[in-house]
Amino acid sequence: MTTTLTRTRRLTGFQPTGHLHLGNLLGALRPLIAAQETTDSIAMIVDLHAMTVEHDPAALRAYVLEQATIMLAAGVDPARTPIVVQSQIREHTELHYLLECVAVHGEAARMIQFKEKSAAGGTVRLSLLTYPVLMAADILLYDTAEVPVGEDQTQHLELARTLATRFNARYGRTFTVPEGVRPEAGARIMDLADPQHKMGKSTVSGAGRIGLLDPPEVIRKAVARAATDTVGVVRRDAEHQPGVTNLIDILAACGGREPSDPTSYAALKRDVTDAIESLLAPIRARYAELAADPAHVREILARGAATVRPTAASTVRRTRAALGLLG
Ligand code: ATP
Ligand code: MG
Repeated sequence: MTTTLTRTRRLTGFQPTGHLHLGNLLGALRPLIAAQETTDSIAMIVDLHAMTVEHDPAALRAYVLEQATIMLAAGVDPARTPIVVQSQIREHTELHYLLECVAVHGEAARMIQFKEKSAAGGTVRLSLLTYPVLMAADILLYDTAEVPVGEDQTQHLELARTLATRFNARYGRTFTVPEGVRPEAGARIMDLADPQHKMGKSTVSGAGRIGLLDPPEVIRKAVARAATDTVGVVRRDAEHQPGVTNLIDILAACGGREPSDPTSYAALKRDVTDAIESLLAPIRARYAELAADPAHVREILARGAATVRPTAASTVRRTRAALGLLG
């Protein structure tokens, strides 16, 4: 039997900024579940990240519990994969500050996500600028070796690597330098209404998003309305037929199936609706059972925190000592 010590530590984060969607399941949650046997994974609900933009306290709390419950319903086994709420481990904020003392302003200011979100105007929270350093702290705190990342996070992961390497060179070997990995079983799911962009929690319109708890009728309507084209052939061609390509990809990712009729978009949409429904129906049912007992979910989160806290505490002790802080 392999012990957990020999397994690769992986960290996957989810922001409680909205309802989890099909992209989160197929791109992150399912790969996480698939790797439970072979990796030493942590599933983290990064609630502090969700506070870098305007937020509603009651909604934040509700999303955290909902996401934890969905993770369990989808098959995350908390005995193997601790589910951790970031803010319940105080060391994240402590390491964040310590790493701010090795990061420089320009490194944060040139992050594309910061530039994009702050270009929208309005109030920009200071935490939006510094959050990639918090993300570096999230990763380095647990001696993480692998971080599954989509394209939107590669720049942030690069910063974590830079800070770890710089710290180790200047203050002595303290951190594991993480690698970014593409999840083996991962799929990138595009917005059904706007297939040039990925499906996202915080997309404003939400018309092209399939929520994991959406009832069958809502799913059917969203797929029926999905953008296609006038080519009339069911084939993968991301450049000219992004909508159809996305539907084919969803079908494959949901059940490994091929479209039943190569000339009918209506048939493709029926296939996709059925495949999504088969995938989500059991998750929805299990969610309803688990959601009836939120105290149990909170207990699982408390156990998750207790499991990882010693590692976090030890990393911060090491970091403080390396920096010359009194023990
Ligand atoms: P937000 O809009 O708040 O950034 P999000 O939908 O991008 O929300 P995150 O919490 O940022 O979700 O990401 C959680 C995980 O889901 C990450 O591993 C991310 O790479 C993955 N993910 C997010 N959207 C998709 C998508 N459309 N397809 C595949 N994977 C996705
Ligand atoms: Mg995101």
